[in-house]
Amino acid sequence: MEFMVQESSAGEREPTSRAVRVAFFGGSFDPPHNGHLAVARAAREALGLDRVLFAPVGAQPLKPQGSTADFHHRLAMTELAIAGEPAFGVSLLDAPNPAGTPNYTLHTLQKLKADMPGVNLFCLMGADSFVSLRRWYGAAEIPFEATLVIASRPGEDIQDLAAHVPAGLALEIPQFCLQSANPDIALVTCALRNPQGRTASLYILPGLNVEVSATEVRAQIRSGNIADAAHPLIPGAVAGYVREHGLYL
Ligand code: ATP
Repeated sequence: MEFMVQESSAGEREPTSRAVRVAFFGGSFDPPHNGHLAVARAAREALGLDRVLFAPVGAQPLKPQGSTADFHHRLAMTELAIAGEPAFGVSLLDAPNPAGTPNYTLHTLQKLKADMPGVNLFCLMGADSFVSLRRWYGAAEIPFEATLVIASRPGEDIQDLAAHVPAGLALEIPQFCLQSANPDIALVTCALRNPQGRTASLYILPGLNVEVSATEVRAQIRSGNIADAAHPLIPGAVAGYVREHGLYL
């Protein structure tokens, strides 16, 4: 089955169709926080995404110490975090492997593509993840499986991304600085070129810089600072779940 959406714009007689735009957003979500939501919302608006799939990871290959909360808690909290956002969903694509082996993003994206033929696939990540990309399994192939969308993040120099592209790829920056479906959200379009001359688009959201990390959230919970539902770092429903299950203490 091909996934298409019908679009009609002013002056057009017939609606045109375009491939459905789906973004994969992998992470530990330990716990999910307002930074994750801000990245997904900005990407959805700037790129006209139809769906963002939040996929809590079973075993992150570059975090051998594992996550703090069990997978079922991270999954439940991610569901609570995105409730009320109709374009967002939670995916089990990166659920723990039966043998506990690491989840590789390359394989996950290939599975997703096979499950959703014809979909225009994107992969969201923060600038800190992009900086580590060259150490990921099959790093040079990933941008050709899904168009990368990189969100700026405090502490990461967005001007310096070219220094971190996977070995064998070259970043051409920027081709042009426009195309955002929402003029309030800056979007920079670049291209990655492989040695065979094949190019893949890569998008940067340079204006985000949301000062939240799960590490900071866990530290605040440990020190008793996330007691009420109106905390600025995490959705209220996530704070409630954390309290109810005594997580991160
Ligand atoms: P931790 O502090 O435990 O390392 P984290 O806050 O980075 O966690 P993850 O669940 O590991 O959260 O992140 C999932 C993805 O979301 C990663 O690609 C990460 O770069 C991105 N991300 C998380 N928080 C932000 C943020 N504030 N701004 C931009 N990207 C973010």
